Amino acid sequence: MDMLLQVGYLITAILFIMGVMRLRSPATAKSGNLIAASGMVVAFVVTLVQYHSFSWLWIGLALILGAIVGSYAALKVRMTAMPQMVALFNGMGGGAAALVSIGELHSQWSVGVSSAAASIAALLTVLIGSISFTGSLLAFAKLQEWVRGRPITFGGQKLLNGLLLAVALVLGIMMIVSGGPHALPWLGVYIVLAALLGLLLVLPIGGADMPVVISLLNAFTGLAAAATGFLMSNNVLIIAGALVGASGTILTQQMSRAMNRPIHNIVFGAFGQVAAGAGAGPDGGDGVVQSATVDDVATMLAYARNVVIVPGYGLAVARAQQEVRQLTERLNERGVTVRFGIHPVAGRMPGHMNVLLAEADVPYDQLYEMDAINPQFPQTDVVLVIGANDVTNPAARNQPGSPLYGMPILNVDQAKRIVVLKRGMSPGFAGIDNPLYTNPKTSMLFGDAKASLDHLLRALDEV
Ligand code: NDP
Repeated sequence: MDMLLQVGYLITAILFIMGVMRLRSPATAKSGNLIAASGMVVAFVVTLVQYHSFSWLWIGLALILGAIVGSYAALKVRMTAMPQMVALFNGMGGGAAALVSIGELHSQWSVGVSSAAASIAALLTVLIGSISFTGSLLAFAKLQEWVRGRPITFGGQKLLNGLLLAVALVLGIMMIVSGGPHALPWLGVYIVLAALLGLLLVLPIGGADMPVVISLLNAFTGLAAAATGFLMSNNVLIIAGALVGASGTILTQQMSRAMNRPIHNIVFGAFGQVAAGAGAGPDGGDGVVQSATVDDVATMLAYARNVVIVPGYGLAVARAQQEVRQLTERLNERGVTVRFGIHPVAGRMPGHMNVLLAEADVPYDQLYEMDAINPQFPQTDVVLVIGANDVTNPAARNQPGSPLYGMPILNVDQAKRIVVLKRGMSPGFAGIDNPLYTNPKTSMLFGDAKASLDHLLRALDEV
């Protein structure tokens, strides 16, 4: 029997790894998701068989409730609210790992049998899992705008965090040494300290930086799950936790690299608190913003040979992905080559633009990553920037004082003509001006992206 269970867990691990591998490309991501989900089903069944002495009523109730909440969220959540959903799910993972360890510590300490190794693993899980739980919930509240999204800071914040962590660690060591029933009340204090630490760590981070923080907390949750796996001698939990921990860490690194901000700057930098105003710089021309009419832009596009569309956060806000696809098809019918230039952190979560465009059935082979599209801009007739701002800001290349300086960007300013679709002159997430808008080659088409694209589609019929 034990052999069969281990084979079941092995199959789960293989399915998880295959699933994660397929998530690397938009073309295979859907099947990757299904494969990983079927791995979860196998793990679930095997675990039920292994630990069969429990109340089926509670398991059944939890299953039904979880399935209802999960399906409702998956069907109803908007593309712009995806980071919130990930935060919530991640928090649940961290909380679950912490609860399992609390249960395990309680059952061991109340009868006075505990090994130091098991207590260390369990206390680490409680610490990391609780930080991830409350941190993710606060991240959710910030993204949902229930809590002010701007960084909330106060004097001595880092000192207080350091102090709380130090007290929690000392308490943890004391509990490991003493063990037994009298350590249980201290476990309560330890949980409160960890939960508080999670809140205090996320409080000073700006709302728009949350996806990076969620990815970091996701890595924490993975670590917590892996530690629970050691505690319960459960191999699949160790493997799944390690996969989540490693992928969360890699994703966090990739995002901070794509934003050119070291992770400590994101976690401790309170970005967005001071919005530096960088004026028109070397690529800013004479400081005059030229606005275009829908007819001007339709003519420009209709007579172009090749067009690159650069989508950004504003496209998600406007929910204009279907109109973008229609525009692409209409231009293709006229013999215009259309490609998409995708920046790794365009939008508010990794892969945001890929998911958005996949939802509208834009063919994957039209999507080009930053490094592939950048050399093509000098030969591009028209670049259509739709709701993207920071990821096109030339200040990142040529204004050393700019907060964006050094961030890899899409070099749209090197194209022959640039058209920007946005509602007004508000800055993007970084809160700074974009000299692209005063570049003599740039025309601004002001308005909500969805409405502008609708008008453009109609105007194209007249050209
Ligand atoms: P930005 O936030 O820089 O700019 C979005 C632009 O969209 C705004 O200038 C806004 O201008 C415009 N906009 C908003 N709503 C609409 C609408 N309905 N119609 C038309 N335009 C609209 O977005 P980018 O995608 O260029 O850059 C992403 C930023 O987010 C980067 O700074 C990145 O570092 C950061 N970030 C990304 C993460 C990720 O994982 N992807 C994670 C955390 C941060 P206006 O109001 O004038 O219309």
